Amino acid sequence: MAENHHVSYTENLMKYMKLDQKGSAMAEYVWIDAVGGVRSKSRTITSVPKEGFKPEDLPVWNFDGSSTNQAPGDNSDVYLKPVAVFPDPFRGVPNIIVLSETWNADGTPNKYNHRHECAKLMETHAAHIPWFGLEQEYTLFDMDDRPYGWPKAGYPAPQGPYYCGVGAGKVVCRDIVEAHYKACLYTGIKISGTNAEVMPAQWEFQVGPCDGIEMGDHLWMARFLLHRVAEEFGVKVSLEPKPIPGDWNGAGLHSNFSTKEMRVEGGMKHIEAAIKKLEGRHKEHIAVYGEGNEQRLTGRHETGSIEKFTYGVADRGSSIRIPRETAAKGYGYFEDRRPASNADPYQITGIIMETIFGAAK
Ligand code: ADP
Ligand code: MN
Ligand code: MN
Repeated sequence: MAENHHVSYTENLMKYMKLDQKGSAMAEYVWIDAVGGVRSKSRTITSVPKEGFKPEDLPVWNFDGSSTNQAPGDNSDVYLKPVAVFPDPFRGVPNIIVLSETWNADGTPNKYNHRHECAKLMETHAAHIPWFGLEQEYTLFDMDDRPYGWPKAGYPAPQGPYYCGVGAGKVVCRDIVEAHYKACLYTGIKISGTNAEVMPAQWEFQVGPCDGIEMGDHLWMARFLLHRVAEEFGVKVSLEPKPIPGDWNGAGLHSNFSTKEMRVEGGMKHIEAAIKKLEGRHKEHIAVYGEGNEQRLTGRHETGSIEKFTYGVADRGSSIRIPRETAAKGYGYFEDRRPASNADPYQITGIIMETIFGAAK
């Protein structure tokens, strides 16, 4: 399958990447678009950022929102407000990546800016020190829109050998996974691991534990890095929750959660109280847990049914799983297994806070 790998492109590029930048830095502004994708564009900043500078020190920028379905053509400017800055693993020092919120010209957050509301919830309830850990599953596709390495006609052998698989015929594109892992570590993303998933060409990486708004920021950056790395290898990243119908596992975004009260002795009663509250707002959660999630949450393939809220210890067929270790110790964290791979982490983490602790002030 090496024919899709555009390695020579990178080799030619290297001699230019080494050229001196004469004191300027490149800033890649990244934002979230109308369909859960990422977009980015570059600008030169003439003074190289110094240690300890803040996102607010960077210029607010804008883009043509009519080209991304984020604004009407007759009032198309959408503003990019820097909110988090990372070192750029593609261009190296002194270049940076600037994660930005999208704002309309009238001073309201853009329809697809879910970070703004999430940040308010995190600030309101910061005293609980909420930790999140998200497990991002994804599927790699070739340029013919076939899962990478799948036979040109028909299907691979049934699921079984692929999860955490090692060896040819079991996993593909480990080079992309490794490059992405390194890129995340370089940028300071709190990536906590990776593994091959149940369906061939499906992988997972985990980010966390992250405190509050950092969860959404780090997961979106990790997604950006993954799309960008895979682009260099000529491979597409899909966050579809059920990329292949039938007896093939879907893709989720399991969301692990704890507060400072849950993480200490006696924590289980806080975990149980939180789960009760989640039960009362199942529909509201499902509404923001990803498009097409009904194809995935069938009650089969390690999922709970979308119709019904359930929870249990070590139960991978329920909505909420209490890990065995948490149950044994009597404190720890729980896992919300409902979110789909394409959900917005700002919406997931935001509604978890809202349901458990109430609206933002
Ligand atoms: P699974 O057993 O469901 O596959 P993973 O090991 O893939 O779990 O992911 C577990 C996630 O939970 C990681 O991202 C980790 O950072 C996160 N996590 C661990 N402890 C906590 C905690 N106390 N609160 C919130 N998240 C946690
Ligand atoms: Mn996992
Ligand atoms: Mn999980």
